Amino acid sequence: MPPRLARAACAPFALAALAALSACADRAPEPSPAPSTATDVVIIEGARVFDGERDLGVMPLVVRDGRIEAVGGDGPLPAGARRVDYAGRYIVPGLVSDHAHLGNTEGVEHGGRYYTRDHVVRDLRQFQAFGVTTVTSLGMNGEAFYDIRAEVHEADPALGAWMLGAGPGIGAPGGAPPAQAMGLAEDAVPRPADAAAARETVREQARRGVDIVKLWVDDLGGRAPPMAPEVYRAAIEEAHARGLRVAAHIHDLGPAADLVAGGVDVIAHGVRDRPVDAALVEAMRTRGTWYVPTLQIDEANYLYAERPQLVEEEPALRAALQAPLRARFADPAWRRQQLDGEAAAKSRAAVRTNLDNLRTLHEGGVRIGFGTDAGALPHRVIGFAEHRELELMTQAGFTPDQALRTATRDAAELLGLDDRGLLAPGRRADFVVLDADPLQDIRNTRRIRAVWQAGREVAGPLQDFDPDRNAAAAPRPL
Ligand SMILES: [Zn+2]
Repeated sequence: MPPRLARAACAPFALAALAALSACADRAPEPSPAPSTATDVVIIEGARVFDGERDLGVMPLVVRDGRIEAVGGDGPLPAGARRVDYAGRYIVPGLVSDHAHLGNTEGVEHGGRYYTRDHVVRDLRQFQAFGVTTVTSLGMNGEAFYDIRAEVHEADPALGAWMLGAGPGIGAPGGAPPAQAMGLAEDAVPRPADAAAARETVREQARRGVDIVKLWVDDLGGRAPPMAPEVYRAAIEEAHARGLRVAAHIHDLGPAADLVAGGVDVIAHGVRDRPVDAALVEAMRTRGTWYVPTLQIDEANYLYAERPQLVEEEPALRAALQAPLRARFADPAWRRQQLDGEAAAKSRAAVRTNLDNLRTLHEGGVRIGFGTDAGALPHRVIGFAEHRELELMTQAGFTPDQALRTATRDAAELLGLDDRGLLAPGRRADFVVLDADPLQDIRNTRRIRAVWQAGREVAGPLQDFDPDRNAAAAPRPL
């Protein structure tokens, strides 16, 4: 049984907010989009509810102080409550991302130099507008991560999606994550050379307050030295001793299998070099290791170049693209460059292998989490990538309700968060209101009417979200 996250949000919300407030008494929270009082009670009615496990039919939700108080109308509904009518619409829990990155891009550029509080908040607000109400920033976070995390939790839901993360993560000396390609000029990612240094790095990150430990175990196609097995085994052991889960970046089957044998909790990308074998399926199933396929990561390398009309056809994609990226996708020279040569063919092959492997692992009973790597590079488009990932999952044999369960209930469970992922009494009132039924067509998750987080209506409709205005909205400095 993997340990729970050290900082799982199981503390009562009011207590956590109080503690945060006393720690930051000199900073007044920003006004929230929909101010409410501490005893605010809202009845959400008329919508058909998928609660993270199943379709409940048309069902009222009673929301009190940011939490779901009741689902359904068995008892009398509270008198004097505010009523919100969503007749003819559909409600699903807020999506939970187990693998994304924050504050790593600016226009068509990327790199550690963009890791500022404003860029992180920009990304969290875009995730929130797309109904992703919990985001795991799985490494490459700058030094400001710990302060930003505390501020976002204190102001919840005013600064966008609720965030957790791995701090900088842990890489290999001279290897992944590739410092030059990822723009890590100052290279905040520690790269321990031996087991003792790995243990010390994990202890330091645990002390600073990471939610999860992230390792990169990848030889980058034979071009770089991979993290040594004794290093990742020591890091996993030390993390578990401190009650922290470990997620590992991989690309190939070999490292994935050895990490699973070493007790890693989460394989944070799909296996893309070859078909997974029965031994891996069996090992992951019996150990309860999670698998986050990130199907969209390789598709993003060619999708927008191959299908520029998507920007016109998909209001949700339009809502996700800042002007510089829109211009890039519209540029025929850029598109040709993306599609010529071996890279696009390799990416297509990676997606095919990833889809096949996801099908095998899912059918084999392995627990599947949800993430895309959105935000690591500009074309891993925040928000749109998540909805596209749900669609790709159906290409790997998931039914729409299985895909939705994965992105809500299961994705929260992967993180050890038992206060979200399901619309059930006592859980956070994080949910998305849709104009069309996602169980009929998973692409309907993009038809967002409204997003609620911590019991407040915080965004929507999605087509009105303006990513340029969001990026320019320079939130107040820390
Ligand atoms: Zn990543």
